[in-house]
Amino acid sequence: MSSKVAKPSPERSAEILESLAEIRSRIQAVSSDSNSTTLVAVSKYKDASDVLACYEGGQRDFGENYVQELVDKAEKLPQDIRWHFIGTLQSKKGKDLAAIPNLYAIHSVTSIKAAKILNTAIKEERTLNVLLQVNTSGEESKSGLPPVTSADSELIELARHIITECDHLHLQGLMTIGSLAQSLSTAENADFETLTTTREALQSYLNANRRGDGRRIITWGEDGRLLVSMGMSSDFEAALKAGSNIVRVGTGIFGERPKKGGAN
Ligand SMILES: *Cc1c(COP(=O)(O)O)cnc(C)c1O
Repeated sequence: MSSKVAKPSPERSAEILESLAEIRSRIQAVSSDSNSTTLVAVSKYKDASDVLACYEGGQRDFGENYVQELVDKAEKLPQDIRWHFIGTLQSKKGKDLAAIPNLYAIHSVTSIKAAKILNTAIKEERTLNVLLQVNTSGEESKSGLPPVTSADSELIELARHIITECDHLHLQGLMTIGSLAQSLSTAENADFETLTTTREALQSYLNANRRGDGRRIITWGEDGRLLVSMGMSSDFEAALKAGSNIVRVGTGIFGERPKKGGAN
């Protein structure tokens, strides 16, 4: 498999491995339980050979924002990579994503329509982890559903739909990007608090309405707890302090990207 990918140069490889080690030690320094923290290395716009260099350093979780780029990389990189799709999800691309055998999770589900498409597209006996994207900062430039403020919530509706109707999807948690300005100005980011509060609200709702439909066992999260995916290169330490389970780091590992590769 990996023979399809050009070997990274020894210099590039050393550079990536050094950055990866630094990020890992920074995660360890702030996490109460770094073993249960997942580091997703965000490789958008970066060559497959960069991914391979990181893989050789033991990294297995990688994140991508664009469906075609992910399809291309997944095809030629090792099959034991766990791919995370973190970009804005267009329903019509759901089928292409679902066809990637080692797609591990989609962090950016925001509609029942997309959930239905994904659920139908998975034919084999497998379940795909999904996280619901929440727009915690309320910025128009960011996608995601509004945080939960009452029981009458789109996010709750979507979570319910996935849990009760989508046999091939596993509701793993919630994801947010949050406002960067927040992270730069203060050590604490209110958007991260908003996501954990929303997680608690959604979880209480699900627990209170746990009664299954008699057809299958209703489960979510890991050990019944929804995970939160939050924190990027510039703010993952604040996110971990606020309780993040999954951090998504690109620039911090692979270096700067061309401008258009910003978070979306
Ligand atoms: C690009 C991107 C990241 C990684 O951003 P960096 O600042 O490079 O660490 C994380 N999450 C999402 C959703 C992104 O689009």
